Amino acid sequence: MAPLANWSENFEFEATSVEQPSSMEQLQEVVASATMAKAIGTRHSFNRSADSPGGTLIDCSELGLEMSVAADSQTATIPARWSYSKTVAELEARGLALKNLGSLPHISVAGATATATHGSGDTNQILSAEIAGVELVDAAGEIRTAEANSADLPALAVGLGAFGIFTRITLDVQPSYFVQQDYYRNTPWETFIDNFDEIMASAYSVNFHTKFDVPNVTGIWRKHRLPSAKAIEVPDELWGMHKVQGQLEAGKHTTLHEPGPWSERLAHFIPGGAPSAGGDELQSEYFVDRRHSIDALNALRAMGDQIDPHLHGSEIRTVAADDIWLSPAYKRETLSIGFTWKKHIDEVHALLTPIEEALAPFEPRPHWGKLFDFGRADLAARFPKLDDFLVVVDRYDPNGKFNNPYLQRLRP
Ligand SMILES: Cc1cc2nc3c(=O)[nH]c(=O)nc-3n(C[C@H](O)[C@H](O)[C@H](O)COP(=O)(O)OP(=O)(O)OC[C@H]3O[C@@H](n4cnc5c(N)ncnc54)[C@H](O)[C@@H]3O)c2cc1C
Repeated sequence: MAPLANWSENFEFEATSVEQPSSMEQLQEVVASATMAKAIGTRHSFNRSADSPGGTLIDCSELGLEMSVAADSQTATIPARWSYSKTVAELEARGLALKNLGSLPHISVAGATATATHGSGDTNQILSAEIAGVELVDAAGEIRTAEANSADLPALAVGLGAFGIFTRITLDVQPSYFVQQDYYRNTPWETFIDNFDEIMASAYSVNFHTKFDVPNVTGIWRKHRLPSAKAIEVPDELWGMHKVQGQLEAGKHTTLHEPGPWSERLAHFIPGGAPSAGGDELQSEYFVDRRHSIDALNALRAMGDQIDPHLHGSEIRTVAADDIWLSPAYKRETLSIGFTWKKHIDEVHALLTPIEEALAPFEPRPHWGKLFDFGRADLAARFPKLDDFLVVVDRYDPNGKFNNPYLQRLRP
């Protein structure tokens, strides 16, 4: 097999084959006969969570499954390998919506939820919190399901690919709504810090962009949820910042000012466009208890001269608490601090440990789909249900068919 890389091409997979089954039966056969295997989504993760050294990567994009909506329109069952672009378009066509989205619509629902992908908003949980059931093919090639009341769901909902190949995911849905977004640029860090809670609560989803060794933050992206397409008045100036009057970058970002359906506004990037730094990047992200937000940000500002030379930019968001065992917002209101790095691979890896040490007083949890240095001891301390998670993994996959070095790092 020609080497397959992840999206940002910071590594090549060490699996020796890729299978693309075209039916559930074929998928079951492929999984049952594989010695080692792992599902891949759209390969946008920055670490090797989707790898299976010497094994088989399983790509479900040709399974040919369809979406179905429950009779009460409270849930929709989505083919797990569908991208969010396709999922939101199909839901919107039926007058339905998801509660929130991450910044990137290109990624698969299965891959995103497996790594606890999140958007922003004081009342918005990670995307996996909308999961009301899953269907998967287990290590023996058998189809298993877990419904909303399953005791396994809090483990499966952020599953790191450890349980098997997810084929369908049932998500909570709601009636479609509108979103209006505006971007404000440039205010002193001190103004941002003094008004932190008010700023983060000032819209349905608030995303704050910055570097650390600078006097001013770059900008704040506010997304208002609206019942209709009627625009609301927003000030031209807020907390000393000026509203961007035109677009951010046309062909890349979703539309500012003009309200539109949630499906065309909640993600930052448009489907099909090259998002973020176009893959010329690495990412890492840490989640701290929201109560420590200012101290954690100040700890990073204190090492800003080390961070900024390697940084495209940082995105800072709030995430509501949940009960999902490996969620970075498990049982705590959360601040997420994301780093989009220049592709300075050695320098960025060298910075991860100092950043993790600087954040240690605030008990940081990592983003499961991005780069981090934590080992078993830190992960076990930060995720109180980690060992319960591993017990469920061993029940679904007793011989470790879906194990890999990334998952091995979680074990004693
Ligand atoms: C430009 C960019 C922007 C991003 N923005 C955000 C953001 O706003 N918020 C955020 O939280 N994260 C963000 N991310 C991270 C991204 O959401 C995660 O890396 C996500 O996992 C990518 O999904 P994927 O489909 O590429 O999964 P992959 O990288 O292909 O796989 C990730 C994991 O999911 C598992 N998996 C995939 N498919 C299945 C399946 N069918 N069954 C079981 N397991 C499966 C894999 O085995 C692996 O463990 C961003 C990433 C990029 C590149």
